[in-house]
Amino acid sequence: MKRILITGGAGFLGSHLSKKLLDNGHEVLCADNLFTGRRQNIAPLLDHPNFEFIRHDITNPLYVEVDEIYNLASPASPIHYQFDPVQTTKTSVLGAINMLGLAKRLKIKILQASTSEVYGDPAVHPQPESYWGNVNPIGPRACYDEGKRCAETLFFDYYRQHNLKIKVMRIFNTYGPHMQANDGRVVSNFIMQALHNESITIYGDGSQTRSFCYVDDLIEGMYALMNTGDHVTGPINIGNPGEFTMLELAETIIELTNSKSKITFKPLPIDDPKLRRPDISKAREVLNWEPKVQLREGLEKTIDYFQSQLAKEVKLVPLKVG
Ligand code: NAD
Ligand code: UDP
Ligand code: UDP
Repeated sequence: MKRILITGGAGFLGSHLSKKLLDNGHEVLCADNLFTGRRQNIAPLLDHPNFEFIRHDITNPLYVEVDEIYNLASPASPIHYQFDPVQTTKTSVLGAINMLGLAKRLKIKILQASTSEVYGDPAVHPQPESYWGNVNPIGPRACYDEGKRCAETLFFDYYRQHNLKIKVMRIFNTYGPHMQANDGRVVSNFIMQALHNESITIYGDGSQTRSFCYVDDLIEGMYALMNTGDHVTGPINIGNPGEFTMLELAETIIELTNSKSKITFKPLPIDDPKLRRPDISKAREVLNWEPKVQLREGLEKTIDYFQSQLAKEVKLVPLKVG
C-alpha cells in the first residue's frame, strides 16, 4: 500500500484516478484549490478511510509525506485556462517546481499530466513524441501551452540534475463522466446543447479534427506509465487515435441523443489547432497499452452521465462563448 498525492484530484481526471488508486488498496491524498474541480466529483470518496482532501494551491509549497505524486493540477479547458492566464502559467511552472521539490526531498516518483497542446497547431500529423511542436508563444493559448512545455523542461532538468524519477504523459482530448457541463469543451458543449434541443455551435467550418479518448482508457494508461520501470520517463502520448471532424462529432451526438438540434457555425477561436491525432506506437510498445472504448460507446456513457445530472436538477447551463 502506498500513500499517493494527487494534485488536482477533485477535477475530472483526478477524481477517476483517486477512485482507481483507492480501489487498488492505496491511500490517496488529494490536494486541490477547487478552481475547476468540484467536491461533487469526490463526494463518494470522502467517507473512504484511505482518502483525504486538502484545499491547497500548488503555486505554494507543500510539505507532506507521501510515496508517489501524480501532478494533475491545472485548468484544462480553454475557457478555464484563459480566465486567469497568469495564474494558469503559475500553476504549471511554480506548481511543477514545488511538486518537483517535494519529490526531490522525499526521493519519490512524480508523474506530470502534460498535454497534446505542447504540439500546438501541428505541422506533423499524426503527432509522435519526437515532434517539437508549433506553438504561438504570445497567443491566448500560450499560458497553457507554454506553461505545460516549461513544466516538461523542469521535469527533465530535475531528472538530469537531481536523478529524480519522472514520468511525463502527453494527454490528448479526453471525455467522460465528471466533465463539467459548462466547461466549454466540445464534447460537453455538444451533449448539453443536444439534450436541450438547442443549436449545436461549431466553431469554424467544422473540418478541424480531434481524437477523443474515453476517461477509463486514459486512467489505465496513466497508471501503466507510473508503474512501468523507472527507465520509462516519457514523454509518452496517451490518447485514442480515432480521428473525427467536429462536424462528425456533432452529427454523432445529435443521433445518439435523438435531438432536434440544428447545427450553427460560429467564428473559430484564435490559434485553434486544425488537426490532432496521437501516434501511440510508443505507448503500445512500452506500456503494452491501447484504448479499448470506441467513440460511440464512450459518448453513450457520457450522455447517460449528463442526463443523470439533469435529472438531479444540477444547474447545467452551457457557457456562451465566441
Ligand atoms: P479539471 O479542470 O477538471 O481538473 C483540474 C483540477 O486542478 C481541478 O480540480 C482544479 O481545481 C485543480 N487546480 C487547478 N489549478 C490548481 C492549483 N493552482 N492548485 C491546486 N489545484 C488546482 O481538468 P482535467 O481535465 O481533469 O485535467 C487534469 C490534468 O490533465 C490537467 O493538468 C490538464 O492539463 C491535463 N490534460 C487534460 C486533458 C483532457 O482532455 N481532459 C487533455 C490534456 C491534458
Ligand atoms: N518544496 C515543497 N515541498 C517540499 C520541498 C520543496 O513545496 O517538501 C518546494 C519549495 O518551495 C522549493 C521548491 O519546492 O522552493 C523547489 O525545491 P528544490 O529543492 O528543488 O529547490 P530549493 O529548495 O533550493 O528552492
Ligand atoms: N469547438 C466547437 N464548438 C464548441 C466547442 C469547441 O466547434 O462548442 C471546437 C474547438 O474550436 C476545437 C475543438 O472543438 O476545434 C475542440 O475544442 P476543445 O475546447 O474541446 O479542446 P481543444 O481545442 O483544447 O482541443
